[in-house]
Amino acid sequence: MKGKRILVWFKTNLRLLDNEALVAACEKASAVFPVYIIDDRMFQTQALGFPKTGAFRTRFLLESLHDLQSSLRQHEAGLLVFRGRPEEIIPRLALELKVSAVYAEREVTDEELRIQNQVEQRCEAKGIAMRLFWQHTLYHLEDIPWPIQHLPDTFTHFRKEAEQEAIIRPALPIPVSIPFTNEIGSEAIPTLQQLGFSEPEQDPRAAIHFHGGESQALARMKEYIWEKDRLKIYKETRNELLGADYSSKFSPWLSLGCISPKTIYEEVRRYERERVKNDSTYWLIFELMWRDYFRFAAKKYGNRIFQLNGLGKKNMTLKEDRDTFEQWRQGETNIPFIDANMKELLHSGFMSNRGRQNVASVLVKDLKINWTWGAAWFESQLIDYDPTSNWLNWAYVAGVGNDPREDRYFNTESQVRKYDPHGHYMDHWLATNKA
Ligand code: FAD
Repeated sequence: MKGKRILVWFKTNLRLLDNEALVAACEKASAVFPVYIIDDRMFQTQALGFPKTGAFRTRFLLESLHDLQSSLRQHEAGLLVFRGRPEEIIPRLALELKVSAVYAEREVTDEELRIQNQVEQRCEAKGIAMRLFWQHTLYHLEDIPWPIQHLPDTFTHFRKEAEQEAIIRPALPIPVSIPFTNEIGSEAIPTLQQLGFSEPEQDPRAAIHFHGGESQALARMKEYIWEKDRLKIYKETRNELLGADYSSKFSPWLSLGCISPKTIYEEVRRYERERVKNDSTYWLIFELMWRDYFRFAAKKYGNRIFQLNGLGKKNMTLKEDRDTFEQWRQGETNIPFIDANMKELLHSGFMSNRGRQNVASVLVKDLKINWTWGAAWFESQLIDYDPTSNWLNWAYVAGVGNDPREDRYFNTESQVRKYDPHGHYMDHWLATNKA
C-alpha cells in the first residue's frame, strides 16, 4: 500500500543491490529515507589501549558511506547521516519525518542487539513499527532446516544438510525508483580526522589497497572472477600468503555488506556456466558457507562466543600478560613467521586466513595469552572485521568453539615449511622492517 513513509536504517548492508530492507520499503512507501548513524562508541579506546575500530577499518567505513551516498544520489535519493547514538537518533528522526515504520537489518550479536532492541522499544512506544530483515548470509535464517537451537555443532553437518535441503534465494535487483524527498538536513560524512584518527600510511608492502563501497566490491568481483580468471584455481591458491589474488579478498566488502554473498554466489554460478565448473568454484561457496555457519552459530550461542570459555566445552586458564601480548601485537615475538603476519596486520589492516590461524594459535597455545585479547586486536585492526566470523574463528582456534577436534595445534615450523618454504613472505614483511 503506497502512501506510507518508511525510514531505512543502514548498518552493515551498505549497498543497493540485493538489499531486502530497501526493496521492501520502496515497494510499500511513497517516501523512503535512507539513514546511517555514526556511533562514536565504535571508535573509543578500549581497556587494552587501542580503539574498538581502528583507522584502517574506519577509513573503509567512511569510503563505503561516500560510495553509498553517491549511488543513492544517482538514483535521485540521498543518504541522511548523523553522528550520535542510534537508539536516540533513529526514534527522534522517525518522529520528525513522520514515518510509520523503520526497516533495518536483523542483528545477532550482543552490542548490536541491545541497540536494535532499544530502537525498537522507543519507536514502538511512539506507535512506529520496526521491521527487521535477515540479509547478511547466503541462506536465509527461515530456510535452514533446523530451529536455531538445533543448529548442528559442526560445520560439516551444517554444510551437508543445508546443501541438501535449503535453497538460496535469488539476489534482489536495485529498486527501480527510490522515492526520496529531501525534507531534513543531513550532517556531512565525517572525516577520519574528525573521528580522531590520522590517515594511515599506505604501506608499499601491502598487496592490495582496499577501498570501501559497493562499486569497489563489484569491481573486485569482476576483476578476480572474470578479468584475472582466478576463480578456477582458488582451491589451489587460497592458502598462500603473498599478493592480491591468492584468495578473493571479498571479505572487507562482505563485512560491511557492500556486496551480498548471494550476489557472489550468482556470479560464481554464471562463471560455472560460461567458463568452468570445478572444485575451486565450489570451494568459494564452501567458504561462504563457513561465514553463514558462524552467523547462525552466534545466534544459537549468544554471548558465549565472546567469553573465554567460548561454547563451554572446557575451562580455559590463560595468562593476562600485557608485555607478551604487546610483543605479539606489534610483531615482535622473535618468531619470524608470526611477526611477519602481525606486521602485515599492523601496517595494512589485512592478513591471510593461513596467517590468522597461525598467529591465533601461537597466542593461545604457545604464549598462553587470553585469546579474547587477540580477538579484540583483530576487531580493531582488521578491515574485514565481522563479529561472528572473528570471534568464532578465534574460539575455534582456541579450542573452545565449533571444532570437532579438541587438540588442534599449528606447529609454526611445519607451517613455514609448507606455506613459506623459501621465506619469501617473511622477507617481504620483515626485511624492510618498519619501527
Ligand atoms: P577467501 O578465501 O577468498 O574466501 C571467500 C569468503 O569466504 C571470504 O571473503 C569470507 O567471507 C568467507 N570465509 C573464508 N574463510 C572463512 C572463515 N574461516 N570463516 C568465515 N568466513 C570465511 N573473516 C572475516 O570476514 N572477518 C573476520 O573478522 C575474520 N576473523 C578471523 C579470525 C581468525 C582467527 C581466523 C582464523 C579467521 C578469520 N576470518 C575472518 C576468516 C578468514 O580468515 C577471512 O574471511 C579470509 O581470510 C578473508 O580473505 P578472502 O576474502 O580473500 O577469503
